[in-house]
Amino acid sequence: MAETVNDRTTDQTTDRAVGRDGRPRFGGDALIVCDNLVKIYKTADLEAVALQGLDLVVERGELIAVVGASGSGKSTLLNILGGVDAPTAGEARVAGLDLLKMGRRDRVRYRRRVVGFVWQQTARNLLPYLSAAENVELPMALDGRAGSRRRPRARELLAQVGLANRLDHRPGELSGGEQQRVAIAVAVANEPNVLLADEPTGELDSGTAGEIVEVLRTVNEAQGLTIVVVTHDPLIADHVSRTVAIRDGRTSSEVLRRTETDGDGTDQVVAEEFAVLDRVGRLQLPHDYLEALELSQRVRLTLDPDHINVWPDESNGGRSVGESGGDSND
Ligand code: ADP
Ligand code: MG
Repeated sequence: MAETVNDRTTDQTTDRAVGRDGRPRFGGDALIVCDNLVKIYKTADLEAVALQGLDLVVERGELIAVVGASGSGKSTLLNILGGVDAPTAGEARVAGLDLLKMGRRDRVRYRRRVVGFVWQQTARNLLPYLSAAENVELPMALDGRAGSRRRPRARELLAQVGLANRLDHRPGELSGGEQQRVAIAVAVANEPNVLLADEPTGELDSGTAGEIVEVLRTVNEAQGLTIVVVTHDPLIADHVSRTVAIRDGRTSSEVLRRTETDGDGTDQVVAEEFAVLDRVGRLQLPHDYLEALELSQRVRLTLDPDHINVWPDESNGGRSVGESGGDSND
């Protein structure tokens, strides 16, 4: 897992929170740090910019949801974090490892040990001719663990996802929800630092999806495992402590949730939306705010002791007129 180039190893392991210039690095020593991440897919005559300067910081032990319209770059982000795709530019660090500098062999080991992946397509996660227990044992076998250690661990993991009585069933003999639970057990078999799941409930009905959410929560809490879930499912997105929204290949906003207890003792979830600020202070204003005040091109900023005001540009005699709407292309 260590970088093969020596001076980089030193740089990465001695103090990840501090950059070469001695100043704090963006994201510090968080488990996942994406800084101005860019991914361009090149085909014969086309270039698709899937990520265009995405920033994301995830701390150890977090369970976060990533939401966004189709085509906004969610799967691209997950594939990069999963070591499936290589980034084009920017920075992506997971558990202190630099995904831009990782060679092919390090990438194989990274996928085996550092990250676990659950795909939306239930069939993609499991081998059909192996039993549930054998599927969970497989990544451990590939990592060279002895059979005597694999079997009890497979049993324990399947019990943790509620499938203690399905050990010898093959995927074809399990429901979609049960298959996804096995997939989660497979993904965490080698004790990864991060579990990544790309729309894991996309093919399930809402009742079953709710059970998968509970399993993810259990794994997160029981093992302290960091989890990033891409989802359309409000059952997940509205029930984690942080939801990150992606728009056009960038993180645009975050919703943080916390539980507060009322005077009469009932728990209430309080959700607050935040805009994302990047390393150099860039900020994306929500689309409905821009439209409400017809903001375009320029805004006037004034600083108060505890907040910043954003005003329409009135230097040309009021709200910009005539060209309004020319800026929005969706
Ligand atoms: P999401 O998961 O949010 O729906 P994706 O990450 O799959 O979005 O895609 C983001 C953009 O990148 C889309 O415009 C998509 O067409 C493009 N894209 C994704 N994967 C590839 C690929 N392998 N080759 C070319 N373009 C791709
Ligand atoms: Mg996708």
